[in-house]
Amino acid sequence: MSGLSGLTAVVTGGASGIGLATARALAAQGAAVAVLDLDPGGVSEPLLGLQADVGDDASVRAAVGTAADRLGGIDILVNNAGIGAAGTVEDNSDEQWHRVLDVNVLGIVRTTRAALPHLRRAATARPGTAAVVNTCSIAATAGLPQRALYSASKGAVLSLTLAMAADHVREGIRVNCVNPGTADTPWVARLLDAADDPEAERAALNTRQPMGRLVTADEVAAAIVYLASPAAASVTGTALAVDGGMQGL
Ligand code: NAD
Repeated sequence: MSGLSGLTAVVTGGASGIGLATARALAAQGAAVAVLDLDPGGVSEPLLGLQADVGDDASVRAAVGTAADRLGGIDILVNNAGIGAAGTVEDNSDEQWHRVLDVNVLGIVRTTRAALPHLRRAATARPGTAAVVNTCSIAATAGLPQRALYSASKGAVLSLTLAMAADHVREGIRVNCVNPGTADTPWVARLLDAADDPEAERAALNTRQPMGRLVTADEVAAAIVYLASPAAASVTGTALAVDGGMQGL
């Protein structure tokens, strides 16, 4: 398909899981795509892999600048990089709180700040194309046990998405987020592998899902591509749940 032909996209955390599936799906629609990741080593053509840490402003500015130069601008920004944390408010140190909020929330702020001049140029040159999609989580609204810090970080991502949508709507830049349920990515595989019996744990996890299976990375990517595409030209300030009915929305 070629629905995004002539457009350019940057995906953070795009070397694995939801980000990699999104980068590939955007490219399959004809977009030129740069992936910004801590470790872009496994990223192959047609994707452009660039090393960046969204926790570091200089690193983000340099990588976004390189992406814009190499791609010829930025029409679409997918803020997907994120890290997890388990536990109640008693379990995580102040340092852990600072680190997760720094990556999951400030990471979006840094990358968007660096990309905005390019998104503004895209909005002027090609009205209806400039879009930001943030990867949030059902943790933002579901009240999940043992996920106090992670949930707080994603709650902030949801609020940030709504505020950014309001701030930039008159500039022609749309901002939305997706709220995945438990998605079958290397992240979740790592958690399952840490269990005493990974296969039994996976079976139990599947059983807890209303659809009896995890959401796939490709399914989340398809929602991100929709929100990023001109097909969603009137959609801004929304959260699209891709959670297999987990949250009951
Ligand atoms: P993943 O671990 O498979 O991939 C995450 C990628 O982000 C990795 O390539 C990693 O190197 C990169 N990354 C991490 N920290 C970074 C940093 N500081 N700078 C740049 N890149 C960094 O994870 P995933 O499951 O694909 O998760 C992607 C996003 O989806 C995250 O924001 C996560 O919170 C969200 N999410 C995941 C699930 C799930 O069940 N997998 C559910 C809801 C939301």
